[in-house]
Amino acid sequence: MTFFVNNQTGAMLSVLNSDINRLEQFLNSEFRQLIRVVATVSGITIILWSYSPKLAAIALLPVPLIGLASAGFLTWIEPRYQSIRETVSRLNSRLENNIAGVDIIKSFDRYEFEHERVATQSEQYHDEQIRALRLRRGFFAALRLMTGVAFVAILFVGGRDIILLGDAGGLSTGSFALFFLYLRRLYSPMRRIGRSANKYQQAKSSAERVFGLLGHAPMIDDPDDPHDPAFIGGDIDFEDVTFGYGDREPVLTDVSLSIERGETIGLAGETGAGKSTLTRLVPRFYDVDSGSVRVDDVDVREYARQSLRRGIAIVGQSPYLFSGTVAENIAYGDRETLTALRNGESVPEAVVEAADAAEADRFIQDLPDGYRTEIGERGVKLSGGQRQRLAIARVILNDPAIIIFDEATSDVDTETEQHIQASLSRLIADRTALVIAHRLSTIQDADRIVVMDDGEIIEQGSHDDLLATNGAYADLWRVQVDENPATAD
Ligand code: ADP
Repeated sequence: MTFFVNNQTGAMLSVLNSDINRLEQFLNSEFRQLIRVVATVSGITIILWSYSPKLAAIALLPVPLIGLASAGFLTWIEPRYQSIRETVSRLNSRLENNIAGVDIIKSFDRYEFEHERVATQSEQYHDEQIRALRLRRGFFAALRLMTGVAFVAILFVGGRDIILLGDAGGLSTGSFALFFLYLRRLYSPMRRIGRSANKYQQAKSSAERVFGLLGHAPMIDDPDDPHDPAFIGGDIDFEDVTFGYGDREPVLTDVSLSIERGETIGLAGETGAGKSTLTRLVPRFYDVDSGSVRVDDVDVREYARQSLRRGIAIVGQSPYLFSGTVAENIAYGDRETLTALRNGESVPEAVVEAADAAEADRFIQDLPDGYRTEIGERGVKLSGGQRQRLAIARVILNDPAIIIFDEATSDVDTETEQHIQASLSRLIADRTALVIAHRLSTIQDADRIVVMDDGEIIEQGSHDDLLATNGAYADLWRVQVDENPATAD
């Protein structure tokens, strides 16, 4: 999670697409060329040597020079190619940002501003490419010059010997002409070495980025002998938990909370109090700095991640739906059903039952192709409330022991809210549930309401108890009732 929060999508995509492509191109064509060049140059050298060692020596004079020039070129060009790859990934991130945030750009009319930012980065990319091109051109020209000079030298020395002595280093005019033809076959692959060196360097910067990405060890790893239960019961214990993101200030300090299986806990408190953070520790998206989080009395760090997470489901504020059919999205957590659906089998009863329990069946039936309607870019768009009900159906089908529900903050109409409420109550019945509520009415009936402030638990109890205590919860409640008197009913 930390990695994905800290890395830009566009930059990662540029490694996954263009850097891997570059590496592939190099390994696929340039590498083969390089082997051919080495074989040709060595073969021809032997032939030339057998004709005339003297002329062959002159012919090979440029080889060490080419070696030196290539080494110099590789050293100069390396940082330039690295910086080009970095600029490309920054440019990609910017473009990805702009495409993802196009509605904000349009609504604030920031077109010119974004246009300029992209233009500046494009220009930087352009300038860096031109600088690399100049270096490359100079290097290629130097290679041509070196082989050209050797060519002329041999023509001169050999020609003069033939004219003056009647043979060149023991070669007749005919053999000298043949020698000369071989020479051409020596120099053209030698010039190719320059191209290959260039491609090699480009591929090297790409490879470094690819391996940089591959080299990220997961920060959350399974222990050596993981606890791997078949089922999770659903007891959760936070014990003196202190946690901060990265090296920053703790977001949670000394939080202790015991939750019994089947209990519904409503989490209330101001934005930024640490409610979501607390829930993220249960599936072990992050490790605590001190204290412990235990599920069924076993520290989450001792679990096999897979068996821990299989027992926990999260419904976020704006649940992600994958492009594919409605049924596939509901069956996402169930591999067998998902494969069956992908193979075109009919929608299983369990999927429909889950959708029905999530109050989603009615609107799904109204979609153009029912459960087989494509959603996302290629198909229909769903409203926020509909997405959340689909996400709830997805979780119901998966039947986890622990539910983490982050209520959508966006205003949904009263009818949708009632549907979500109904599906939520079915979802959390008989399961341990942590419900982060933005409308306190959502958690009014929770077994226990836990109120957080600035990373600490400041109050807990039932709705009525907390109102009677007249503390922070009562204040929050009054604010919401004032804003929306219907809530009190
Ligand atoms: P709540 O759910 O109560 O609104 P959060 O748990 O989301 O609160 O946030 C608590 C604090 O942690 C906030 O100050 C927020 O800025 C910070 N925070 C949340 N997520 C991250 C993250 N991924 N990286 C760094 N800080 C974060």
